Amino acid sequence: MTISIKSRQRIRERASCLCEYCHSSEEASASLFTFDHLVPQSLGGTDSEENLALACHRCNGRRYNFTEGIDPETQLSAPLFNPI
Ligand SMILES: [Zn+2]
Repeated sequence: MTISIKSRQRIRERASCLCEYCHSSEEASASLFTFDHLVPQSLGGTDSEENLALACHRCNGRRYNFTEGIDPETQLSAPLFNPI
């Protein structure tokens, strides 16, 4: 994975330095956040900025290569990445 410094900066700005899954702050973290592939590389995802999300280590590690999960309230499948 090669992500340019400028792409990393744009993704951080887009995310306001917050994990794009749990919204924790990178500034309050002991280490820099990672760049998570929304569509995993194992499923054909690319390194384009549109396919990358700023993610804390916990979210990135737990997501593995899943793109959907079961919503505990509705029991329906839902996308793990929801920028709204
Ligand atoms: Zn997170």
